Amino acid sequence: MDHMSDTQERERAFAEALKADGLRMTHQRLEVIRELAAARHHPDADELFVAVRERVPTISRDTVYRTLATLVSRGLVERIAAPGAARFDPDVSAHNHFVCTRCGTIIDLGTGALVEHALPSRLDGVAEVTWVRLEVKGLCMQCASAASTARPSTADAATQREGS
Ligand SMILES: [Zn+2]
Ligand SMILES: [Zn+2]
Repeated sequence: MDHMSDTQERERAFAEALKADGLRMTHQRLEVIRELAAARHHPDADELFVAVRERVPTISRDTVYRTLATLVSRGLVERIAAPGAARFDPDVSAHNHFVCTRCGTIIDLGTGALVEHALPSRLDGVAEVTWVRLEVKGLCMQCASAASTARPSTADAATQREGS
């Protein structure tokens, strides 16, 4: 499925979910849905709020949170624990993530070999697996270079002395 129809498909599914939960399809909610359905960068709730506010100045944080909560509870959006604030992924297909442990940046790693290797064989005959995600953690290049150019703090220096 191409990007455009993918996004439209999600918008439709998100709108249905809100309706099913008795939430009226207001202009505000529609804009939250649009922003989220098209998001490729795993935004947190605040980023979503700020992005929607550019088009809809009357949007409230509460509307964003409520919409997200509904979509997550219906399995249409994945909530990802990340440093700082939880992030949200409108792509709930099985795919792997790299998560920066410092700034929370999430990079999609796609599917394939990583997913297969993540499946423990001890589940054979014990459980029927429907969904797998492998999370790879570390520092994004920005955080990694910031960490290596930063002057070591006194605590770091002390640790290094102890270690040597
Ligand atoms: Zn980072
Ligand atoms: Zn993702």
